[in-house]
Amino acid sequence: MDEDEFYDQDLEDPTVPCPVCQQPVYKDAPQCTGCGHYLSDADFRNHPSKWVALVAVVLIATWLLQYVFAR
Ligand SMILES: [Zn+2]
Repeated sequence: MDEDEFYDQDLEDPTVPCPVCQQPVYKDAPQCTGCGHYLSDADFRNHPSKWVALVAVVLIATWLLQYVFAR
């Protein structure tokens, strides 16, 4: 049966192709081992502190741009 075959194959090889470099990477892997591309934003959802850091970086960048162009 095709469905069983597909299911077995899925269990034996739990990888997905990287959307960037097409290299097979494990589904649990947060990051592609080939090109370093983050495979999902689950990392951000599981670690809210990363959002805080991201917002801080954006705010600092905005402040710096205003400082530079305000002259
Ligand atoms: Zn990749």
